[in-house]
Amino acid sequence: ALATQCEDTIAAIVTGSVAQGTVSIIRVSGSEAIQVACKLFRPGGRQRPGWEPQSHRVHYGTVEDSRGKRLDEVLLLCMRAPRSYTREDVVEFHVHGGGICASRVLQACLEAGARRAGPGEFTLRAFLNGRLDLSQAEAVSELLQARTTGAADSALAGLAGGVGKAVGELRAQVLSLIAELEARLDFDEDLPEMDAQRLQRQVESLQEGIEAALRTARTGTLLRSGISVAIVGRPNVGKSSLLNAWSSSERAIVTDVAGTTRDVVEAGLVVGGVPLTLLDTAGIRESVDKVERLGVERSRAAAANADIVIMVVDAQEGWTPEDGEIYRALWGDGPGTESCVVKGLSLLVANKNDLNTNAEHDLHKHEQQQHQPHFLQESGIATVASIQQQQQQQQQQQKQQQQQQQQQQQQVRIQLPLMCRKTFAKVVGTSAINGAGLDVLASAILELSGAPQLAQGGASWAVNERQAEALVRAHEALMKANESVASGLPIDFWTIDLRSALLALGEVSGDEVTEEVLDNIFSRFCIGK
Ligand code: GDP
Ligand code: ZN
Repeated sequence: ALATQCEDTIAAIVTGSVAQGTVSIIRVSGSEAIQVACKLFRPGGRQRPGWEPQSHRVHYGTVEDSRGKRLDEVLLLCMRAPRSYTREDVVEFHVHGGGICASRVLQACLEAGARRAGPGEFTLRAFLNGRLDLSQAEAVSELLQARTTGAADSALAGLAGGVGKAVGELRAQVLSLIAELEARLDFDEDLPEMDAQRLQRQVESLQEGIEAALRTARTGTLLRSGISVAIVGRPNVGKSSLLNAWSSSERAIVTDVAGTTRDVVEAGLVVGGVPLTLLDTAGIRESVDKVERLGVERSRAAAANADIVIMVVDAQEGWTPEDGEIYRALWGDGPGTESCVVKGLSLLVANKNDLNTNAEHDLHKHEQQQHQPHFLQESGIATVASIQQQQQQQQQQQKQQQQQQQQQQQQVRIQLPLMCRKTFAKVVGTSAINGAGLDVLASAILELSGAPQLAQGGASWAVNERQAEALVRAHEALMKANESVASGLPIDFWTIDLRSALLALGEVSGDEVTEEVLDNIFSRFCIGK
């Protein structure tokens, strides 16, 4: 059935159904696209029998319906096969926006012999005609759905063939292994004994390649789904101020009265291309006030569901008994224990660092050279020093922030009880007042989430869920192949497993794919893509 899919000529409005813009585009693709165009189009607004559009040229004219009624003044762009998106003859009408012109011109195309395109049908044809592999076709959809620049960059890298190339190379290696084994099966007596150890090493290196590709799935998920961050801490340490400073919004109400943030307040921002959802929670403490107790309950729920929990303390006051209570309310006896509510990663933020008179720059100068928190154990107390580097964004925002133009180095000196110093993967000093340390906090979050390359600002290709699932199957098949070799089974058994690995890898690129899988993928596209 797939082979017959490209037989007719399809048409759709490709610029979105509710066209508010000034231009809409109708795309026609298929062997009769040019015929359809010639029926409707009047070059220069006049009837010209025998006229045909030139490929890759823009023609000005009008579109008329079959009764000769003028429907719009348009630009026509013709791209003859194979130099088009679908590799078929493609004609595009650029018509006036607003919706009416587009739907009338589309209607005229349908009357002239085209069929309304289904979701993703242009891209499906591009795939079936070999212009894109399946991973690239999926990247088109991911590009359209990208909500952050990071997600778009990653999709573009996939569209450029990143996934297909990496997986294609692995597939080629599996194929040559199979060829080698089958040669032994066919001409056993002429060839030297199969080196089982070499084969095993090759299979292992293939597995490593698959693992590397699978590691990118994490980045992909982060780019698509983002990271939820719960900000917890006792009242008045600056949680709401931090959320405001970070998201530059006024969503959380900041006041000097302790315990005023009662609801969980949410704010979104994008860091390194990853969408972060920040949850500001009420201060967690025992309270007689019913409403506040509810807030406390919500904090626990927010902290339990967040990917990352940031505990905020006051850098000037240091670790207080109240902080200890909050720590126990959330982390109990520490991460991994039954009493621990927090499932995600934990960060400690020492806010109000601008007021921190404990910072002893000279004393800890040697520690500033190391970009790692440094722990000194002294009578059951740990000293944590970490470095903050602030770099002004090169974009000229000539506002108040100009004071921060130089690299600033700040010191956080917080004394933590021993029991909770292992809980926090990182300690960052911040100031909600001048914004210091927020960029360090952002990179720490990306690094902890398993996307250090995003922290550096580069988003490369990432495998999606479908591709990852196929890669996992390929990996399992390779594992079985190695087991067959190790347990001395005959060569036929090795090739069975290698063949299923080959199949699974082929699903990523679409070399081996069922119609059902294709339907599933392309039905999720929008119409006109
Ligand atoms: P929350 O109860 O933890 O949400 O704390 P708020 O955000 O309401 O802040 C409590 C008080 O601390 C307010 O008066 C803020 O202006 C002040 N504050 C918050 N962050 C900082 C900071 O980084 N430096 C200084 N100097 N004051 C801060
Ligand atoms: Zn607050």
